[in-house]
Amino acid sequence: MTYPGQVPPSGPAIPDRPVRRLGMVLPLLPLGTLPGYLLWGEVGLVVTALGLAALIGVGTRVLRPTARSGGFGGLRTRDDFIAFLDDCYLADRALQGGFACAVIQFDNAETLLDRHGRAIQSEVLQATGERLLSVCRFEDRVMPLEGGGFAIALAAQRRLDLEAMVAMSSRFQAAAAEPVALGAKRLFVTASVGFCLGQRSAGRSGAALLDAAQIAADEALRNGPGAIRAFEAGMARRRADRDAHRAELEEALDQGQVQAWFQPQISADTGQVTGFETLARWCHPVRGIIAPGEFLGTINDAGLSERLSEVMLQHALVALSRWDRAGVTVPTVGVNFSNDELRNPRLPDRLRWELDRFDLAPNRLCIEILENVISTADNDIIVRNVTELARMGCRIDLDDFGTGHTSINNIRRFKVHRLKIDRSFVSGLDHDTDQKSVVAAILSLAERMGLDTLAEGVETPAEQTTLKQLGCGDLQGFGIGRPMPFSDTLAWLGRHQTALHEGPRSGPRFG
Ligand code: C2E
Ligand code: CA
Ligand code: CA
Repeated sequence: MTYPGQVPPSGPAIPDRPVRRLGMVLPLLPLGTLPGYLLWGEVGLVVTALGLAALIGVGTRVLRPTARSGGFGGLRTRDDFIAFLDDCYLADRALQGGFACAVIQFDNAETLLDRHGRAIQSEVLQATGERLLSVCRFEDRVMPLEGGGFAIALAAQRRLDLEAMVAMSSRFQAAAAEPVALGAKRLFVTASVGFCLGQRSAGRSGAALLDAAQIAADEALRNGPGAIRAFEAGMARRRADRDAHRAELEEALDQGQVQAWFQPQISADTGQVTGFETLARWCHPVRGIIAPGEFLGTINDAGLSERLSEVMLQHALVALSRWDRAGVTVPTVGVNFSNDELRNPRLPDRLRWELDRFDLAPNRLCIEILENVISTADNDIIVRNVTELARMGCRIDLDDFGTGHTSINNIRRFKVHRLKIDRSFVSGLDHDTDQKSVVAAILSLAERMGLDTLAEGVETPAEQTTLKQLGCGDLQGFGIGRPMPFSDTLAWLGRHQTALHEGPRSGPRFG
């Protein structure tokens, strides 16, 4: 089925200018050969005809690549692109807006760069740019975007409506998704597309139209992979809200409103405290305490992950020093590291420096890495960072274990010390035999691999007892202690020690 505005796969619906020029010149060929015939007869006729044909052929070959590499219809600069869209508005006196702007972004742009490096990324971009040009009409414009995507200006045409644009967006996605050959290997990428029709943009200018398409593309990326979104006014409002939220978060980080709370971890066997996990809390002056689920996404999107991890690490190390000074035994503190932070090549140096500054042994710090980061990380920097941190003596905890697909190989490669069994397997394991067998299987795998274990989300005394019987190493959960500000930890530790000395009958805590 062909949609209005859709172009056939073999090439542009409206021929390129050189092709059209060839079409105009061919009928004049006999006229051009006439002087040759008059001067030299039949031989002259053949020679001039061949000469003219060769000239047209050469002209066509020279014009074609120019058209695709910066000349007519080739890749454009931003100014040129916006001027083109401005012209579309100027020419659109009837306010029909049969033109549009689309933005194409790779779903896996970061992975592409991390796994394959900048040279391969440029190769993929180059190939994609050429393919996008090949599915556009001659009148359309394609511009590479700074972040690695592309913007396409679709020149005015009859019946370029929502349905036609959805079809065009699918064509752009298909063009971007064609595998790129890298030596013997083939690289697969996917793309999300956002677009805005000329008459749907809030402002009648090229810049406003491009901005609207970019907003739609960002929304598509959030819903991807492979999503398509048309611009709606609500999107701009949502983005403005997000921008405001981001600015507020930046300020919150600077003003110390984002703080570390601490959740205790105990030995299943002895009940002694083995550590605390550091969990971020936004202590908002008006909204009160905000859990990380509400703001971590914005932190990552806004590129503030490094700043957050600096704050959390700082708070964790200050807490360790204060517990030491208070004479209480807290062997370790766990800090959660996001994918973004683990990609920071300076991470091991920064941690080494901070541990030195606080005069703390590296084995007091547990680096918590989500299982899905390790299972998908084919990333040299992440592997290098994590193995270097393990080599320095930091402990590596594999968080949410059981929810991803880590290979045994990756557990070894990342020098993991402890598996943190995800809450979803722990809940109700005392009466749910399926849950119990999953946890038993994880514990036996860990034992054979010489790894420590910790069960997360332990809420009831019955769960504690079962985990102890199964041979789980450490326990963490609301049943032991909820996350709390540092100021509450000393009192909690005191109460916990008292309960331990009074024995198991004084409370359900250590089953
Ligand atoms: P997580 O690392 O798996 O942390 C455990 C989460 O489970 C915490 O939620 C904790 O409050 C909650 N939890 C602990 N025990 C129980 C229990 O018995 N029952 C139930 N229902 N929940 C329990 P929180 O603090 O909301 O953190 C959620 C996630 O946010 C964390 O999951 C972690 O992935 C992430 N996160 C928290 N702080 C940071 C941080 O500083 N940096 C990064 N990158 N991620 C963080
Ligand atoms: Ca964690
Ligand atoms: Ca977890």
